Amino acid sequence: MNLIRLACAAATAVVLWTQPGLAQGGSVERLYILNCGEGVAGDISRWSPGVNVGKSMDFVDNCYLIKHAQGWMLWDTGLADAIAALPEGQAPRDPRMTHWRRPKTLAAQLEQLGVKPSDIKYVAVSHTHPDHIGNVELFPQSMLLVQKAEYEWPSPVGPRFKAEHPVTKLEGDRDVFGDGSVTIISTPGHTPGHQSLLVKLAKTGAVLLSGDAVHFKSNWDNRGVPEGNFSKEQTVASMQHMADIMAKQKAQLWINHDKAQRDGLKLAPEFYD
Ligand SMILES: [Zn+2]
Repeated sequence: MNLIRLACAAATAVVLWTQPGLAQGGSVERLYILNCGEGVAGDISRWSPGVNVGKSMDFVDNCYLIKHAQGWMLWDTGLADAIAALPEGQAPRDPRMTHWRRPKTLAAQLEQLGVKPSDIKYVAVSHTHPDHIGNVELFPQSMLLVQKAEYEWPSPVGPRFKAEHPVTKLEGDRDVFGDGSVTIISTPGHTPGHQSLLVKLAKTGAVLLSGDAVHFKSNWDNRGVPEGNFSKEQTVASMQHMADIMAKQKAQLWINHDKAQRDGLKLAPEFYD
């Protein structure tokens, strides 16, 4: 009888011990910003209608690598690494859009950090535009975290992901590691199943990674809704939802495509903790 009690107590202790976050309230060790593209947007009024008509702007494209006690997670995969081999980069069909280059591949940046593609437990994408999902198939074993509405959004060019790629189709927010340290936030509007990511770091504090819920700072300040967005109403509601979260969590907003902001941030191999 005593032995059984002892065994039960031990089992309970193991369960409590292995539940992340109970001890320190989160276990994100590092957040790296990776260079997943650089480009020039032809006309930024495309993203904020009526504002700065005809004005071009330098854009960047980021991926974010998270080292959590339970494993590695990649947020967005950027432009396809193959673009790095194109001397002129990738010109857009519409000159008002973005002419992209890829100064460094994602693969090379991971290698520099000593991270193998098979080390990545989760690959989550903000949405399925090509500058965010360009390298998903570098990680054929990683669990893909994408909203069901995004996964099932019909594409004129065929399926966005390989059918055999392991996937968790989300319907709303998701606490990725179960300890509140990394949370996917549903922010539809730019696309049907767009999502953003809230990361809580011990020293840096909370950071909200925008995805394309917003494209650059003045776009956020003006609550500009890009002309190609899936839903204007959802976009505006998602921006307000993000603002509410930022106020509550005292979170910084890191805007994926904002070059001026990225110029002031540390890129890998430096990191935030
Ligand atoms: Zn997009």
